[in-house]
Amino acid sequence: MLLNCLFSSRCACCQALINHNHSLCNNCLVDFPFFSPSQNNLLLRPDVKRAISLKYCNGLFACGWYQGWLQDWLSKYKFHKRTYLKQLLIQLIRYQMQRFWQNGGFIPDIYFFIPLSQTRYVARGYNQVTQTWLPALPTGSQVSQDLVRNKITKPQSQLSKTERRRNVKNAFCLSTNIQGKKVAIIDDVVTTGSTMDVAAHACLQAGAAQVWAFATSLTPLNSK
Ligand SMILES: [Zn+2]
Repeated sequence: MLLNCLFSSRCACCQALINHNHSLCNNCLVDFPFFSPSQNNLLLRPDVKRAISLKYCNGLFACGWYQGWLQDWLSKYKFHKRTYLKQLLIQLIRYQMQRFWQNGGFIPDIYFFIPLSQTRYVARGYNQVTQTWLPALPTGSQVSQDLVRNKITKPQSQLSKTERRRNVKNAFCLSTNIQGKKVAIIDDVVTTGSTMDVAAHACLQAGAAQVWAFATSLTPLNSK
């Protein structure tokens, strides 16, 4: 009984007792509204194409729409420092990536993260993207911190689509030579795609052969 308490916790959705390394039980994980892994490249989905514009990306991977549970957990972790949600997000990302690769999904040679601005990093104390994605990536993955911010940008969430594009124009630079490499750029929420696209453009200029956007979630058209 005591051991049960020590090594188990409750599912974040249905409250069932589960192994303490996980946050969702198997049933809730299977029922979670992930994007279907059968459509490996989400840019081929008409509803995603209408919501997100990624002209410099060859493909897009994401767990689900930024709504419901996923929105709740991501925003609480990011803006309200609910750090207990970290493990839950890692579990979701890892599960969806496994399904993606089981279906022949794109395997990057190297991963980059959209760098958080220095002021936001200092204010938050952690980078919610690397915290949830690094533990979810396969062991031995090549991860680079060389994608850096070139200029000070305003938070994208306060801006219109046109302003977002202007705000992040030439925002990133990459000093590493990634000639011929297959690249993934990771972010937590992709809203219009403008930040991701500017980062993808920087990777292409540095010689990348292919660039994919990997995101935890995508903002649906009706909530922009
Ligand atoms: Zn459950």
